[in-house]
Amino acid sequence: MTSAPVSPAVSLADLDPDALRSVHAEFAAAYEELKAAGLKLDLTRGKPGADQLDLSNDLLHLPDGEYRDAAGTDLRNYGGAVGLPELRAIFADALRVPVPQLLALGNASLTVMHDTIAQALIQGVPGGELPWGRQQISFIAPVPGYDRHFSICERYGIRLIPVPLNDDGPDVAAVAALLETDDSIKGMWCVPVYSNPTGAVYSEDVVRALVSLPAAADFRLFWDNAYAVHHLGDERPEPIDVLGLAAEAGNPDRPLVFASTSKVTFPGAGVAFVGGSPTNVDWIVRNMSVQSIGPDKINQLRHVRLLRDEQGLAAHMEKHRAILEPKFAAVQGAFEARLAPYGAGTWTSPGGGYFVSLDVVDGCAKRAVQLAAEAGIAVTPAGATFPYGDDPRDANIRIAPTFPPLDELRTALDGLCTAILLAEAETLLAAKG
Ligand code: PLP
Repeated sequence: MTSAPVSPAVSLADLDPDALRSVHAEFAAAYEELKAAGLKLDLTRGKPGADQLDLSNDLLHLPDGEYRDAAGTDLRNYGGAVGLPELRAIFADALRVPVPQLLALGNASLTVMHDTIAQALIQGVPGGELPWGRQQISFIAPVPGYDRHFSICERYGIRLIPVPLNDDGPDVAAVAALLETDDSIKGMWCVPVYSNPTGAVYSEDVVRALVSLPAAADFRLFWDNAYAVHHLGDERPEPIDVLGLAAEAGNPDRPLVFASTSKVTFPGAGVAFVGGSPTNVDWIVRNMSVQSIGPDKINQLRHVRLLRDEQGLAAHMEKHRAILEPKFAAVQGAFEARLAPYGAGTWTSPGGGYFVSLDVVDGCAKRAVQLAAEAGIAVTPAGATFPYGDDPRDANIRIAPTFPPLDELRTALDGLCTAILLAEAETLLAAKG
């Protein structure tokens, strides 16, 4: 991931009040035109487009009357709590989790993350002295980050402590300082590959540090590898063996790995995965055994038949890439054409995943999103990428370009840029009197 270089012809921030008033009038007129167009476009959530969903339509008829796995087990019945070994094998290498330590479960990894935290609150995790719920606990949250991670903690009164997310992962010095001084910290959110929303990919050095830093025995990395196979280019990060590195560092139980096929096949009708050390996996299986008599193995078989093997998965993801690459190029094109000439923002250029992270002039993100909404362009609420919805700089906007068709996306991006330019000119004008 790289941040787009900005070498503006005229930076809005450098204009004198008269020149600023003149561009403000220009932007206001463009905005009135935009509003008059009566658009109704949506850039809010990172959902696959309909053409991406079509790639998995065979799931609608698979497994074509079959109901046995490779071992001959009748999958129509109860049992098989750990999920189909054939499906776990397809994802094991990309996630760098050995098949026996990787479980295939229900339809959503967010549910598994939520339930893991709920179990930790009620009973504690292996190595901990007390259930998390019997103490004041905190999680480290690299920012900008994924709002639904934050919502789980907010719901259960787990304090969220933001740390900066750099291009190569969370700021290790900030994490180390927190772990050293605050023993309420029991968890940390991590999206190690193509993070939501910046697209950051954690480097091996950062991962080594995160698994090695001194921390409580019941400190857990919530390693949400949601975008492990979601590449947009030819340059691909080598998957990092977080479990192996943690074991080497003497902290084998620290990482809990999560993933799903939500953005491989059908979100909501896919398969979630969780992996960890043998101790953690035993703990999860014990917890699950009172919650369910087994996952939807027929859906898992459907996925095995669709994806076939690791190569089949890679080929399937190439088809997603072919659809998504032009959409991400459209984002770069729009921002370069409309924002760069005014120094009106910086944005990421991710090598994969589902989002682009845009930073506008401080104090303008909320106003820009509001102006866009009033012109019929829905954007993820400003602040959503920070714990408690509070972006202290009011600068970050998450761009989710995957869902709209390309022509609608281009229109929405152009309108969003108009809203951003007007919001920035308004703010700078107010500051300069
Ligand atoms: N994790 C991250 C980082 C995501 O961005 C998303 C969806 O946007 C999810 C998890 C949701 O995954 P699932 O559909 O498996 O619950």
